[in-house]
Amino acid sequence: MPVRVQFPLRVLHLFKANQMKNVSLNRKVEVRETYDVIVVGAGPAGICAAVAAARQGRRVAIVERYGVVGGNLTAGYVGPILGMVGKGTMRDEIVRLLGVPANDMIGETGCAHDFELAKCRLAELLDDAGVTVYLQTTLCDVVMEATTIRGVVVSSNDGMFALAATITVDCTGDGLVAYLAGAPTAKGRDDGLMQPVTLEFTIDNVDEERGIICIGDVDNVEMNGERFLDFCKRCASDGRLPSNLAAVRLHPTVRKGERQVNTTQMNGVDMTQPSQIFKADLALRRQMQLLMGFFHENLPGYEQCRCKSSGTTTGVRETRRVIGDYVVTAEELAVGKRFDDVIVHRAEFVVDIHNPVGAGQAEEHIQYCEPYDLPYRCFTPQGVENLYTAGRCISGTHRAHASYRVMSICMAMGEAVGIAAAMCCEGGCTPRQLDVRALQQRMTEQGIELFD
Ligand SMILES: Cc1cc2nc3c(=O)[nH]c(=O)nc-3n(C[C@H](O)[C@H](O)[C@H](O)COP(=O)(O)OP(=O)(O)OC[C@H]3O[C@@H](n4cnc5c(N)ncnc54)[C@H](O)[C@@H]3O)c2cc1C
Repeated sequence: MPVRVQFPLRVLHLFKANQMKNVSLNRKVEVRETYDVIVVGAGPAGICAAVAAARQGRRVAIVERYGVVGGNLTAGYVGPILGMVGKGTMRDEIVRLLGVPANDMIGETGCAHDFELAKCRLAELLDDAGVTVYLQTTLCDVVMEATTIRGVVVSSNDGMFALAATITVDCTGDGLVAYLAGAPTAKGRDDGLMQPVTLEFTIDNVDEERGIICIGDVDNVEMNGERFLDFCKRCASDGRLPSNLAAVRLHPTVRKGERQVNTTQMNGVDMTQPSQIFKADLALRRQMQLLMGFFHENLPGYEQCRCKSSGTTTGVRETRRVIGDYVVTAEELAVGKRFDDVIVHRAEFVVDIHNPVGAGQAEEHIQYCEPYDLPYRCFTPQGVENLYTAGRCISGTHRAHASYRVMSICMAMGEAVGIAAAMCCEGGCTPRQLDVRALQQRMTEQGIELFD
């Protein structure tokens, strides 16, 4: 029996337009389908959550605002797939599907993947698992009954409609479902500043014999007898580069003669604020043009390079973190802390904080982390009963987020939460009532390594 949702959208009082501060809206929208599990956001975390839940035999839908699945991994032009997790997760399956070396964090191609291939393979993965995919469909609200989410309201080319679900999984990266449902969230470091946004782009026609590769802030590659990144710093101080673009990262791609450029950056942008997005995107696209000139004039082997393509969307490193029943810290990650309620095991990546106020890293020394666990309680937002988060918006501090946000770790998070969501549906329980030991057992039976 479909539930009729009262969703406000009719203007009731509009006395003097120029004094209007709020409008009261009232409208009924159709509840178009009912699912066991709805995942919002089809990035690395969301895809794995949806596929994992569907493979447990549940009826699953995924809602994605763009016209392609993959999130940063495709539309954001983000690569390589960094980080590592314990054996047997869907991360291994995905890198295999994409033809990326499975256990090689840097490797010859720097673990690069082909964005076009990924768009197809990830869509096939969802389709093969029987997930219903709503593309070009944007979450705009949640239907709450006290602290329980009864469904999500989405906006589409067919107007608005609702989808009902037993369990919802927030994989928006921005924690939007949790935020709309009233869960507490946090942003950035103590002063509120977040990591910069970046528009990644691909260049081709690089002379492979002469053109350097620079994989990141710790790379000591030399150009003309000087450390390349020191040269870039010099250019930033003499005006050849804007001061916040001194970390010029030139990654290899799956094709010879190409480089993936992860260098543009805008500081001080809050991508949850629509009024800031256009100006940020425009500034980044101008930086792209400026960088092309810089490459032509200063980098041997790059004289004839061409800008081939860029992300459909500005890449967002950091927005909301949803406060859950546990907030994991970078200090815990650093020592590789073990948790009884582990659901992601042996996650491994440095604390990679792109400077919120300037170029390169925010901290002088990048903190290494021992392979760490992520506990179940980081995925259950406070104040909401039937919601999980997975991906970069889970519950952790600003510094912890800077480590677990990489795509391999987000994939393992999504898979764990997808299995958990399916088990809640099976057992008729909420995430807080779920027996975590039973979840761990199910994951272990599937070959996912959870314990040392
Ligand atoms: C410039 C940049 C460089 C990076 N470099 C690397 C790197 O080299 N290697 C690495 O592993 N990681 C890197 N990262 C980090 C990594 O890409 C992200 O942290 C990771 O993709 C997060 O995965 P996710 O699934 O949580 O979110 P996302 O990949 O952001 O996916 C979220 C999805 O949710 C969708 N969504 C959001 N809101 C809505 C809504 N209202 N309705 C419907 N859908 C919605 C989005 O469209 C998107 O598809 C980088 C990030 C950036 C920005």
